[in-house]
Amino acid sequence: MTSPQVVLASNNAKKLAELRRILEPLIPGIVVLGLSDVADYPEPPETEPTFEGNALIKARAAVTATGLPALADDSGLCVDALNGMPGVLSARWSGVAKADGGDSANNALLLSQLSDVPDDRRGARFVCAMALCAADGTEIIQRGEMTGHILRAEQGEGGFGYDPLFAATGFDVSTAELIPADKDAISHRGRALAAIAPAVRDALTR
Ligand code: IMP
Repeated sequence: MTSPQVVLASNNAKKLAELRRILEPLIPGIVVLGLSDVADYPEPPETEPTFEGNALIKARAAVTATGLPALADDSGLCVDALNGMPGVLSARWSGVAKADGGDSANNALLLSQLSDVPDDRRGARFVCAMALCAADGTEIIQRGEMTGHILRAEQGEGGFGYDPLFAATGFDVSTAELIPADKDAISHRGRALAAIAPAVRDALTR
């Protein structure tokens, strides 16, 4: 019997590694393919104003192109003092491309935007919408969140994106300082994946 395969519609290697790490123990035997493991297809632009809408755009394109059950997430950081921004604009908040150091530029911009914001108003949350689309038309979305606050300087080398600036509720270190298993246990992506895992299992056995 061939292993059950799901395609994960992301080009972000660190995100892919994180998603594999979380999903493989939840569904033993599952093979999680990334976009580099399937034939090239045109990736649609993320034009929706919500995490859920953008996750669906990506998962629909992947199931249409591959015929395999497709998972896609859209995620971002919502900062209270910025009225929930950068939100769906998190990856491109500074306007600097990821390949040109976008993550560092995003973090520097966020720090400067919050420079006058006192500690008790630095609340924020990471949000993840995870969409599953299957060839039989199944479409399911689950949302996960991780609350916390924005630090005053970058801390830690792990994780990616805004992790060095984010301390989760109950932790006095940034999510870039957590060991991966500890981040997975509380993260927005971990929660969204755990919630959608039963539907992925169903899609793989149909
Ligand atoms: P997406 O790839 O369109 O979902 O963009 C997600 C963006 O949100 C990333 O590029 C990061 O800037 C940010 N982000 C999402 N999840 C995390 C996380 O777990 N840690 C740090 N940054 C994150």
